[in-house]
Amino acid sequence: MSFTAGLAVRGRRVLVGGAGPNALAPITALLESGALVSVVGPEVGTTIADLAERGLLTVAHRTVAADDLTGVALVVPASGDPAVDADLERLAAALGVLAVAVPVEATDEARAGHGAVTLVGGGPGDPGLLTVAGLDAVRGADVLVVDRLAPLSILAQARPDAEIIDVAKIPRGAFTSQERINELLVEHGLAGRNVVRLKGGDNFVFGRGGEEWQACAAAGIPVRVIPGVSSALAGPALAGIPLTHRQLTQGFTVVSGHVPPGDPASTLNWAALARANTTLVILMGVATLAAITTTLVAEGMPADTPAMTVADAGLPSQRSVRGTVADIAARTVAEGLTPPAITVIGAVAAFSPTA
Ligand code: SAH
Repeated sequence: MSFTAGLAVRGRRVLVGGAGPNALAPITALLESGALVSVVGPEVGTTIADLAERGLLTVAHRTVAADDLTGVALVVPASGDPAVDADLERLAAALGVLAVAVPVEATDEARAGHGAVTLVGGGPGDPGLLTVAGLDAVRGADVLVVDRLAPLSILAQARPDAEIIDVAKIPRGAFTSQERINELLVEHGLAGRNVVRLKGGDNFVFGRGGEEWQACAAAGIPVRVIPGVSSALAGPALAGIPLTHRQLTQGFTVVSGHVPPGDPASTLNWAALARANTTLVILMGVATLAAITTTLVAEGMPADTPAMTVADAGLPSQRSVRGTVADIAARTVAEGLTPPAITVIGAVAAFSPTA
């Protein structure tokens, strides 16, 4: 998705009056719309100076003068000061140049391309954490293929005539096979429909988005990707844990706990993870948490390493429990936390913003 000025400005010269924070949205929209942008304002913000340095626009550090409007198709007053903006509008009117405060609005690109599949990352469950591009795609979809962990209340934003297909995969419960999901995407895409594949978090973080992409590509269906806020990032943040923190850790590792250490299907190097000295984020690990934490300690992780489990992150039912790597599995069970949940292990799990 792109933001446009809603005006046909591609290749035309546009003067933006003002170079402060209020000019950022219209300038970005105009650049995305292909306008040739010159900015004039007495105070130039860093971001705009940087855009000028990269050759994306020209900037002059002063108030607008009549000469600035020569050869200009459109004037955009954006100083943030109504009196200054009104002056510029009067100047433009006197010189016969159109002036408009650019309305910044999302385009309906999703509606334009038919017979396409859009992989939309829905975020951890709070509809507020779906991206603007994701919401735009949901609104434009003919068919929505949705999962249990997607922000389902957002479906109220879909067109009334849109078809909603629920392929929820409840652990150890009723589910639609991945092969069938791939087929559904391909069938609807080939039928010329605009398909949105809405998942929880990000489609490429344990979301099988890669497989769905390949299935569509093999059938010649265009695929668009809209990243989502993964629960691996949102879960800790919503529970008050920074995944990295300058004094504590220089990285984080996200792993699946779906198969426990020692299982023939496990490909993770738990001994390396135990000693990596980065924050460890475990998804799909509630059932295997005891086995995982026992292994981490056995492989050399200090038993007093802080840990926290966060369930239903971003939902009204969000709950969390703190402990150490040695007791977090027992505490998670004792507190009755159930999937979907993530566990964070590392110094940051003891973080307090006030400490
Ligand atoms: N694609 C998803 C992950 C899918 S795997 C993402 O990027 O978030 C499913 C696992 O994600 C769950 O078992 C759980 O570990 C985690 N998860 C998803 N939503 C969650 C939420 N709201 N709160 C806590 N964990 C969540």
